[in-house]
Amino acid sequence: MGKLKPAFGIYIHWPFCAKKCPYCDFNSHVQDSIDQGQWLEAYLNELRYYASEASDRPVTSVFFGGGTPSLMKPQVIEDILTEIGRLWRCSDDLEITAEANPSSSESQLFQDFRQAGINRLSIGVQSFNDQKLQFLGRLHDAAEASNAIETAANIFDRLSFDLIYALPDQTPEDWRQELGAALKLTQGHLSLYQLTIEPGTAFHKDRVAAADEDLGSELYEITQELLDQAGLPAYEISNHAKKDQESRHNLVYWRGQDYLGIGPGAHGRLTHNFQTEMIHNYREPGKWLELAQTEGTGQQKRTPLSAEERRDEIILMGLRLAEGLSADHYHTLTGTDLASSLDQNRLQALENEGFISFQDNILKAAPAGRQRLNAVLAHLLS
Ligand code: SF4
Repeated sequence: MGKLKPAFGIYIHWPFCAKKCPYCDFNSHVQDSIDQGQWLEAYLNELRYYASEASDRPVTSVFFGGGTPSLMKPQVIEDILTEIGRLWRCSDDLEITAEANPSSSESQLFQDFRQAGINRLSIGVQSFNDQKLQFLGRLHDAAEASNAIETAANIFDRLSFDLIYALPDQTPEDWRQELGAALKLTQGHLSLYQLTIEPGTAFHKDRVAAADEDLGSELYEITQELLDQAGLPAYEISNHAKKDQESRHNLVYWRGQDYLGIGPGAHGRLTHNFQTEMIHNYREPGKWLELAQTEGTGQQKRTPLSAEERRDEIILMGLRLAEGLSADHYHTLTGTDLASSLDQNRLQALENEGFISFQDNILKAAPAGRQRLNAVLAHLLS
């Protein structure tokens, strides 16, 4: 692992969807009328607010997430990108991703997004099985999902789509078939998430159960086997890519680098002289909008991370990655030594169990450790 390049990302949160999915705990809302002009003004205000202190960092990625950003007007996207270009120096290979849903996709919209500056699309497909799409409360069917991918592939050089697995009645054979369909359509990046039932969701209220742990593990193993064979190994627990197709924006998070969060509920990290601050915006869209319009930002709190909190989050993120966390990178981020930040007895015990390795100055979760990362981290960092 060579020295990692500096990176700085900007995340823009669009909090609206055409319908709320029953498993979703993201900050997403259904609202009849949205004044996109007001939202644009608020986004621009918040960008300017942060540019006053972070404009010296070249931007390497912009990510429009949600919600369903494919419901944004292309002109709004273009105006946001123009302002980012005015306020910051952007890298030559700036990655600009938007999330899209198949039901809000059509050829013209994708063309307009490309024209507005988007150069990578991430489509919320979730399944290639109509019954499962219904269970997940999605507005599209499998044919629309395939069409959206094919249409997008003609317009965007870089493209990803998501699938959800470990649904209650899913069999290994079902999942193999879905992965087979995905591998026929993929352009080089897939995000594959296990269903989790989160508090506050309709599934949680209705006591829907995800697949049990054993089935979940079996489906995870199948995922690794088929995707490895196809040349899209996991570069992160749930994300698979061909070489150079990795999401540069998400790598910013997993590599513990700085980013801005713009929009309701968005969060960011800014570091000055090795002191990292955690920044959170108000989650409620109306509240954020009003504050960003009147005060220039919908920021709710800004908290310096202690050395231990910062260590924990860098390790927590770094161990999600197949590349792991190098002592060199850790030093670049914190100015401190990784080995002496760790409890050697605990580290040794996890190495002996085959869950983790710390070789050639790189701390890495072994495949067995990545599958039970929460337990590994709880032991390593407690
Ligand atoms: S489309 Fe995405 S963000 Fe919107 S409710 Fe469904 S899962 Fe959540």
